[in-house]
Amino acid sequence: MAGKKPRPLVAGNWKMNGLKASKKEAAALLKGVAAANPKCDVMLCPPATILSLFAEVCRSSKVKLAGQDCHANTSGAHTGDLSAEMIKNAGAKACIVGHSERRADHGESSTDVKRKAEAVYRAGMMAIICVGETAEERKDGKTLKVVGQQLKSSLPQGADHKNTVIAYEPVWAIGTGLTPTPVDVKKVHGYLRKRLIALLGEELGGKTRILYGGSVKASNAKELMSVDNVNGALVGGASLKAKDFLGILAAY
Ligand code: PEP
Repeated sequence: MAGKKPRPLVAGNWKMNGLKASKKEAAALLKGVAAANPKCDVMLCPPATILSLFAEVCRSSKVKLAGQDCHANTSGAHTGDLSAEMIKNAGAKACIVGHSERRADHGESSTDVKRKAEAVYRAGMMAIICVGETAEERKDGKTLKVVGQQLKSSLPQGADHKNTVIAYEPVWAIGTGLTPTPVDVKKVHGYLRKRLIALLGEELGGKTRILYGGSVKASNAKELMSVDNVNGALVGGASLKAKDFLGILAAY
């Protein structure tokens, strides 16, 4: 890949955690980010119930917000679902789609993920599209095949480095404390970079950020973030406390 490296992004996925009182944690994060001024973009993905509240807290901060999922349609009879337009209206600039917990818990296929990513574009947000292999797929030597197929089938027409971020999250590394070795991460990210260039062309494919996610913490962030083609992190558990998340941001 020629040219300048994309500006890294570190996003904290709070999953099904957080109440109104958690705005104290968000405020502590903003304070820490303002003081440390890390050389990366910073994003929080709180549950939708507190997105608007966090939008107030983050109003004049560099920390941006993202949703964790959306429905593919704009509106309609879909009880309990939220459209990308609603997520944006609540204050988000981006939305995660295809997280492995959605793929596993809700049976979402890459075709569903692609439709959701299209909805995110339609609403004028950036899609954070997740891919990753299970422990069994890894054991069978299918990692590259699986992530390559998920990428190809989940990425909409019109994807580019501004509207899309890819997150490589090995399913077996999420919330387990296990991480792939830097050599393994380099192999997968290098492959995803090649596939992105094949799908989007040299310029856009080269500039599209590829995040690593799965048990990132302060103690391993620097090593993982310095691997070739790792352009930031998607962080779960260690993003819930400002102190832990700031420890990860210190990698930048
Ligand atoms: C995630 O689920 O996106 C994630 C990376 O979780 P954790 O950091 O807790 O492994």
